[in-house]
Amino acid sequence: MLIDGKWVDARSGKTLPVEDPATQEIVTHVPAAEKADVDRAVEAARRAFESGPWSRLSPAERSKMVWRLGDLLEQHADEFAEIESLDAGKPVGNARNQDVEGAIGLFRYMAGWPQRLAGETVPVSSTGDWHAYTLREPVGVVGQIIPWNFPLLMLSWKVAPALAAGCTIVLKPAEQTPLSALRFGELVAEAGIPDGVVNILTGYGEAAGAALAAHPDVDKIAFTGSTEVGKLIVRAAAGNLKRVSLELGGKSPAIVFPDADLDHAIAGTADAIFYNQGQCCTAGSRLFAHKSIYDRVVEGVAAQAGKLKIGHGLDPSVNLGPLVSKDQHDRVSGFLQSGRAEGAEVVTGGNAIGDKGYFFEPTVLAQTSRTMRVVREEIFGPVVCVQSFDDDDLDAVAKFANDTEYGLLASVWTRNLKVAHMMARKIKAGMICINAHNYGDAAWPFGGYKQSGWGREMGKEVMEHYTETKSVAARL
Ligand code: ADP
Repeated sequence: MLIDGKWVDARSGKTLPVEDPATQEIVTHVPAAEKADVDRAVEAARRAFESGPWSRLSPAERSKMVWRLGDLLEQHADEFAEIESLDAGKPVGNARNQDVEGAIGLFRYMAGWPQRLAGETVPVSSTGDWHAYTLREPVGVVGQIIPWNFPLLMLSWKVAPALAAGCTIVLKPAEQTPLSALRFGELVAEAGIPDGVVNILTGYGEAAGAALAAHPDVDKIAFTGSTEVGKLIVRAAAGNLKRVSLELGGKSPAIVFPDADLDHAIAGTADAIFYNQGQCCTAGSRLFAHKSIYDRVVEGVAAQAGKLKIGHGLDPSVNLGPLVSKDQHDRVSGFLQSGRAEGAEVVTGGNAIGDKGYFFEPTVLAQTSRTMRVVREEIFGPVVCVQSFDDDDLDAVAKFANDTEYGLLASVWTRNLKVAHMMARKIKAGMICINAHNYGDAAWPFGGYKQSGWGREMGKEVMEHYTETKSVAARL
């Protein structure tokens, strides 16, 4: 693990195994950090924040370092794509074109922020002469806990803006996928970033993650993961009222209107659920098709599922890799059992594949209804629940879409501009895509309503997470 610029083992000497989910072989072992290691890393981050060379860098120098990280990722892009494929089971082409490319773009976008983070002069009305203004200051030592579905990309969403703002970092990757974060740790020194600014701890959530979330000297915690763990983070953060931002689960609707370009909508909504084996917080897991096109949509998405080549992610011809772990495989299998028991029709898929590796068939469930567990809960696998709607009243359609405790993303498929933009207003979600799904861009704020989280990442909004506003008033 990387603490204060040095590669160290856990104090306890404990390790955790890293598995290739396609073969179930143990690839390597990494340190299993616990509270003592978190304490060390937070101390290093505090020192670097308060008194190290980092705190004295100009915005331009900080910008250059963040940019350099993007360059270094680009230089090693193929290597990172292979690491992601091996560790998370991703098709290597997706890892290269989406995960790694996205991370490079994120560092480059964020490199533009240090010199643009400005306060304002404030036109106050109090009696007398005043000069009032605000300063934007880094929030301090930031704990960042990320999930296994996009390990390097989630790292970049967290690390790049925090560095741009001038914070120091203790990052904990998911125990299932620690490898790209460790390799990234080697680039941190190459980019010229001083010791202690970025610390990377591998370890289990309940040990390392919980200790980081509760740590009294951490000023802010940024978390991406399940809604369940998000609630634990909020409780743990209450001790010192550290700032909290959360990017949590979803049960995102994809709504296909009868006037949509159906070939495009079918391919797009199939990709919305099968991309990354359905392990996306924004996955289009609830598909609503107008009754007049319902059969075509169901058949079309099932046909798309049939075309996917399933196998080891390192085989470049593969479109669908394994699920990340045995736990995840058991979870998805359990949901299929529940869906069948509650009366869903399995149009295609529905089963685990083979006896080695955590493969699961891309699955289409029809005849689903709002009360079924498969419709209400986040499955995080390649399983889509299709429902029909027969009401052309947009409020009624929005009510279907909003019938969930989540509110992350929704997609609307139509050629009618009015329908598209009216639906964008009516749906309670942090992100709306029109004739697209699973969209993301470094400049586009990302985050959710309701139990999908607190705050927005990326774009200019993420800078709010990593800065405090200080108001200054001078009597003249
Ligand atoms: P998933 O259900 O997708 O595996 P989790 O929310 O369990 O997602 O995990 C996301 C991240 O949160 C991982 O890095 C994991 O180690 C961490 N984590 C899990 N439990 C806790 C906890 N109690 N406190 C802090 N972090 C945790």
